[in-house]
Amino acid sequence: MQLQKLATVILTATVVVLTAAGATADLATDMIATDDGELTFFPINHATFVMTCGGKAIYVDPVGGADVFGDFKPPDLILITHIHGDHTSVETVQTISTAETVVIAPTTVAEKLGKSVPGRLHILANGESFDWGGITIEAIPAYNLSEERRNFHPKDRDNGYVVTIGGKRIYIAGDTEDIPEMRALENIDAAFVCMNLPYTMTVARAADAVLAFAPKIVYPYHYRGEGGMSDLEEFKKAVAANPEIDVRFLDWY
Ligand code: ZN
Ligand code: ZN
Repeated sequence: MQLQKLATVILTATVVVLTAAGATADLATDMIATDDGELTFFPINHATFVMTCGGKAIYVDPVGGADVFGDFKPPDLILITHIHGDHTSVETVQTISTAETVVIAPTTVAEKLGKSVPGRLHILANGESFDWGGITIEAIPAYNLSEERRNFHPKDRDNGYVVTIGGKRIYIAGDTEDIPEMRALENIDAAFVCMNLPYTMTVARAADAVLAFAPKIVYPYHYRGEGGMSDLEEFKKAVAANPEIDVRFLDWY
């Protein structure tokens, strides 16, 4: 906990310096227009965020206890990518869910949650889709490619997601490397892409994959790793090879 606080203080200091140097400050929230109205993204921490659209609240990898979600209505939908503690918290899901909440997760997460979810639990395997009242959720593979990292996220266990909402396609990478399935994505309007070592991939690999699938907007997330925060300016510089891709920094930590 103290370590986390220290990290926050250090990052805050970094942001101030960057802002003074003319770079944009990390956004507390961001929004894109959809056919169903504004879709708003609220970064909470690391891999955890909330999306709201048309009066619906979608929580992604909610961890950290109910208090951190105090500003939001209870989740209509929860998307969970995989079993690691920075993505799955049985206690948090249990506390924030209502009888109406739908939880979408891979099998291993569903096993962890057991019967603790008050609402409906829907298991999605890689490649499967689910239609939730006109919003489509597609499970995308998420796994490590490197031999030495394969144990962290083995193939076929975890999910990334593409959420289609009001005609816009939002990609949530989960914990993964620059897998072919990510590179092959098409028509992505906004992408949340991880970049940290040792668990996912380097900034350079993340940037290379992003250049391959060319989302309209990319939000780096899940970028705290060994040795601190990944170098997001380096990521932005690499992605600038395609000036059509808008790199946006949210306030994750
Ligand atoms: Zn993980
Ligand atoms: Zn993670």
